[in-house]
Amino acid sequence: MTAVDDARALLASLTDAPPAGVWSAPGRANLIGEHTDYNEGFVLPFAIAQRTAAAVALRDDDLIRVRSTFSSTGVDVSLADLDARIAAGGLDWAGYPLGVAWALRAEAPDATPRGLDIAVASEVPVGAGLSSSAAIEGAVASALNDLWDAGRDKVALARVGRIAENDAVGAPTGIMDQMASMLGVADAATFLDCRTLATRPVALGFAEAGLQILVIDTLVEHAHSSGGYRERRASCEKGAAAFDVAALRDLGVDDLPRAAEILDDVTFRRVRHIVTENQRVLDTVAALDADGPRAIGDLLTASHVSMRDDFEISVPELDLAVETALSSGALGARMTGGGFGGAAIALLDSELVPAATEAVLAAFAAAGFRRPNIFTVTPSEGARRDVGGRPTGPGSVSGASPRLGRRVVGGGPGRRGGFRLGLHLLRRGGSPFRRVPPSTRRRSAAAPSARGPADAPRAGPGGPRSSVRPELRPAPRRRAVPARRPRARPG
Ligand code: ADP
Ligand code: MG
Repeated sequence: MTAVDDARALLASLTDAPPAGVWSAPGRANLIGEHTDYNEGFVLPFAIAQRTAAAVALRDDDLIRVRSTFSSTGVDVSLADLDARIAAGGLDWAGYPLGVAWALRAEAPDATPRGLDIAVASEVPVGAGLSSSAAIEGAVASALNDLWDAGRDKVALARVGRIAENDAVGAPTGIMDQMASMLGVADAATFLDCRTLATRPVALGFAEAGLQILVIDTLVEHAHSSGGYRERRASCEKGAAAFDVAALRDLGVDDLPRAAEILDDVTFRRVRHIVTENQRVLDTVAALDADGPRAIGDLLTASHVSMRDDFEISVPELDLAVETALSSGALGARMTGGGFGGAAIALLDSELVPAATEAVLAAFAAAGFRRPNIFTVTPSEGARRDVGGRPTGPGSVSGASPRLGRRVVGGGPGRRGGFRLGLHLLRRGGSPFRRVPPSTRRRSAAAPSARGPADAPRAGPGGPRSSVRPELRPAPRRRAVPARRPRARPG
C-alpha cells in the first residue's frame, strides 16, 4: 500500500463523500547546505521517493476535519474559528495541515475557502531529518490550492508551508524543506538561493554513476523548536549584526580572519560554519555540473566536520554513522537536517550498500546505541496531484513534471551583498544558477578539494595537477573522517 492508497482508505472511513482528489508531496534529503537557509544562503536538497498523501473530500459546510494515520486524534475546526484556533495553539500535528489552510487563506485573498475532510497518510519517517513536516505541508497546500481555486505556484505554496510551520506550529525553520518538497525533479537536486528563492535543478546522475545515497536514521529524536536550534539562529544573527550585514550570506571566506578578531569564540565558529558551508554548496554545484557525482564526496564530509566542530549540532550516533560509512568506502558522508539527532547520509557505490549497512549496524551495536534504521533514498519528483482529474490551471500543481533544465524563479541572485561567495562562478560566466554547458565543462577551479586522491592527485600547492601519470597516482585510500579540530580559533 502506498501513502496514496492509505490516505484514500482513511478518507473512506471518515466520509461517504467521494474524494475530490489525492495530492502528495515528498520528504527530502539535504545533499549539502545545512543551517544556511535562514542565513539567506545556498542549499542543495533533493526530494525523495517517500511521500505524504492527502486525500480530500469537499463538504457542504465550513468545517475542516483533519485526520492522519499518524495519530488517533483528529481535529475539527470551522473556517470561522480557524484564526482563533491557530492563535490559541496546542493543535499538535493538526497544526501543520490547519496551519497551511490558515496561511493559504491569508496569502491568497482571492481564493474561495470551503469546508473539507482531509485524510493524511505518509511513507516519510517522522522526525528523521527527512522533513515529514514539509511533506504534509506540501500535500495539503497542493490540495487546498486546487480545491480553493487559490491559483498559487509552487514557490508560493512552499512559502505557505513555511508560514504554517513558523507561525502556526512555532518551529523557526527556513524555507528549504518546503521548496525541495514542492519543486523536486527526478534524479536532480534543487539548488536554491534562500534569499531570492531562485532555483535550478542540478542533475545528480547517481544511478548512471552507479552511486546511491544511504540514509542512516539514528532514531535519536531532534526537536526544531527546542533550544539548540534557536541558539544557533541567535548566534548567526549576532554574527551578522557584528558585520552590519542583513544575513551571514553576505560574508565570504575572506571575511573570516576579521570575524575571528571581532567575535567571541563560539559566535566565530558558528559564523565560520555558515560561511564555509555556503561556499561548499557552490563548490558542490560546480563539481556536479563539471565532473558529476563522484566529485562531491570530500565536500560532503567537510560539511559534517564543520557541523560537528564549529556548529556543534552533531551527536555521537551521527558521528559514528559518518565515520563507519566512510571507513566502509563511502565517497563522502554527513549528518543531514537540523541536527541534534536525526539522520546521516552517505554517498557510495551501489555494491557497497549491503556491507556498509552491516558495518554501521555492527558499530552501533558495539557502541551500545539503538539499532539505526538504514535505507537508500532516490532523488524524485516533487509535489503533485496523484488522483482526481480537474484541468490544470497555471497555478495548479497538477501539471506535468518539470523537465530537467535551467529554471530560474525570481530572477536569480541579486548582485548586491552575497555575490562574493559566487565570484568564482561569476568569473566563469555568470550566475551560479546558470548551468555550465556540457561542451565547456571542465574541472572547476573552485572545487579542487572535491575530488579524491585517485581522481585528482595534487602535486602540491600551485603544482600542475595533470602532470602525474595515472599509474603513479596514489592508490585509492579508504576514507576516514578528519579528526576533531582543536576548538581554539586559528591565530
Ligand atoms: P521532520 O520534518 O524532520 O520529520 P518535524 O519535527 O519537523 O520532523 O516534523 C514532524 C512532525 O510533523 C510530526 O511530529 C507531526 O506533528 C507532523 N507530521 C509529519 N508527518 C505527519 C503525518 N503523516 N501525519 C500527521 N502529522 C505529521
Ligand atoms: Mg521538519
